Amino acid sequence: MLPFSQYDADGRLHHLITLEGMSSAQVRELLDRAQAHLRRPGEPPARSRALEGVSVGSIFTEPSTRTRASFELAARRLGADVLNLEIQLSSRVKGETVLDTIYTLQAMAVDVFVIRDAEVGVCQYVAEHVQPHVSVLSAGEAHVSHPTQGLLDALTILQFKGGFRDLVVAVVGDVRHSRVARSAYEVFTALEVGELRIVGPRALLPEAGEMPGARRFESLEAGILHADVVMMLRIQRERMAEASIPDPHDYCARWGLTAKRLKLARPEAIVMHPGPMNREVEIASEVADGPHSVIRQQVTNGVAVRMAVLETVIGNRDRRRGRR
Ligand code: ASP
Repeated sequence: MLPFSQYDADGRLHHLITLEGMSSAQVRELLDRAQAHLRRPGEPPARSRALEGVSVGSIFTEPSTRTRASFELAARRLGADVLNLEIQLSSRVKGETVLDTIYTLQAMAVDVFVIRDAEVGVCQYVAEHVQPHVSVLSAGEAHVSHPTQGLLDALTILQFKGGFRDLVVAVVGDVRHSRVARSAYEVFTALEVGELRIVGPRALLPEAGEMPGARRFESLEAGILHADVVMMLRIQRERMAEASIPDPHDYCARWGLTAKRLKLARPEAIVMHPGPMNREVEIASEVADGPHSVIRQQVTNGVAVRMAVLETVIGNRDRRRGRR
């Protein structure tokens, strides 16, 4: 058997499991497509029939607000049928394996699976077992990756900063347990961000050697100094032993982004956060709701990016079919 690839024989996206190894051209193509789905505030959202006849099923075994809602809206706005499996109400709780669940939905002609799972490798495992015309899109894999988040973060920076090469981007907080940070690292590396910083207490920074090329800072002040982009992260309590979870008050005192601290960044810096935010822990409300915050734009971009990814994998599927 060939080693797993998320690309088809022509090198086109078949599944989206990771941004690792993606070229800047591949990323740019997805961002361009996403941009075409953005509308001015107040205008009705973009719609098309690109996914007419396609069924998109989502299976989330970890909580989600933004990713789940935006995948669903993206699929609906492209004309797809959408199914969200309520995992607590599904036969998984009766002991059905993930593959049996997938095969069941595949038998109902689900063409695209959107999967979030707390376990490493589940998305790839499913992708290896589905029928050739079916695609698997990761909606977040353990601490490892969250590819559509990485893309929407890149799109947001592109919108506000116009490019990547001259930027100082600081990713701040619990980088160690964050799939958002890992996908950000991958996409920013592909797009050749000027300077990428990872900033946090030592216990929350990744192992030395992980994220080569990123500069490590164990001081918030030094880490965000003159930054163009400050991306704040939530403490991933669910991935930590109880004893090592920092006290929220202590953490806020040292690592919380306040308006005063933000003054260290460039005057026109943008502040990002993937959500959910823990206000007054990693980010003060005055910053989250302040003039530098682009957090809501990230959410808007999430729908556009997911539309772009859905359209891309279905377009590639149709191209493969057309040749047969
Ligand atoms: N929503 C993001 C994720 O699923 C970030 C977070 O949960 O902190 O990884």
